[in-house]
Amino acid sequence: MRWSWKIGNLAGIAVYIHVTFLLLVVWFAYRQYQVDSSPAAVIGSLVFLGIVFFIVVLHELGHALTARRYGIATSRIVLLPIGGVAQLEKMPENPVQEFWVAIAGPAVNIVLALLFLLPLFLFSGFDGLTTEALLNGDFLPSMIFLNILLAVFNLLPAFPMDGGRVLRALLAMKIDYLKATEIASAIGRAMALLFAAYGLFVDNNFLLVLIALFVWIEARREANAVRMRQHLKTATVADVMEENFYVVAPNQTINSVLSYQGTLSREVLPVMDDQKIVGMIATRSLLQLQAQGRDDIIVESIMQREFNVVAVDEKLNDVFSKFKGINTPLLPVVRDDQLIGVITPAGINRFLASL
Ligand SMILES: [Zn+2]
Repeated sequence: MRWSWKIGNLAGIAVYIHVTFLLLVVWFAYRQYQVDSSPAAVIGSLVFLGIVFFIVVLHELGHALTARRYGIATSRIVLLPIGGVAQLEKMPENPVQEFWVAIAGPAVNIVLALLFLLPLFLFSGFDGLTTEALLNGDFLPSMIFLNILLAVFNLLPAFPMDGGRVLRALLAMKIDYLKATEIASAIGRAMALLFAAYGLFVDNNFLLVLIALFVWIEARREANAVRMRQHLKTATVADVMEENFYVVAPNQTINSVLSYQGTLSREVLPVMDDQKIVGMIATRSLLQLQAQGRDDIIVESIMQREFNVVAVDEKLNDVFSKFKGINTPLLPVVRDDQLIGVITPAGINRFLASL
């Protein structure tokens, strides 16, 4: 993530702070200044903010270390104004694993709340945990309240926040993964609207509005990514095949190939001899030869004899590498050795965009 600085390492994971986090510090200090303008109060509130974010880092570490148990590394933890993000290499697609990774963060907050509760309870019994103590800003009650708040807020089913991931994981144990994601994403976006409405009209809280925006965008993006991955798993060459194509014969001259307008609409043309593909020829090189006045050469003498073909029922996922190997922007599609179409990166992109 750009615009972020590394502030340290925890359990071998780099912790970064994003520049927008400084905006939060300024906003927080300003808000405190309006309430109480003494330097002590402003500094006190900034120290409190520092502690909040240390707790957020511990929360993210909960996710990261649980993911590590499943063999998933975390590239880094980034602190944003809307909270922390543990950038896992990937999200576990196994619902049981996703459940534990997602719930580990809020679980850290519950444990912290209990840890802060213990000394409070030892010193003053239940009397220490009063609304007055909280309003006074007493340290232990504030920490207990903060951790409970973080646990509860993160467990709201606002996918892709933790609670939403827990929901998706629970659904995915019962129903199809894509369907589970779509339901969680729809609930997530509904929650985002609630957050935004609350932040705008009730609490005047721009952070909540930012979180709403993040949830809305990410819920959509993740659902789309899952949909695309699922479709890619089942899509075949037939889904992206283009049936309009031009072929040329080996004994055709370059001049006669170029006299057809349509041939130039393709970067590469299959060369057919007796119902068989015998080579491929790039229209660019035809034009170059024509410009050099050598357009009476026949196709056979300059065609590329090494090329890949794909079968119409091949999995789309398996054909991507065939484009790389031979450096061609077009692959012939065959069924029972018969050329029936072509596939191009542009056609594949159109298919992916339509998902
Ligand atoms: Zn979390």
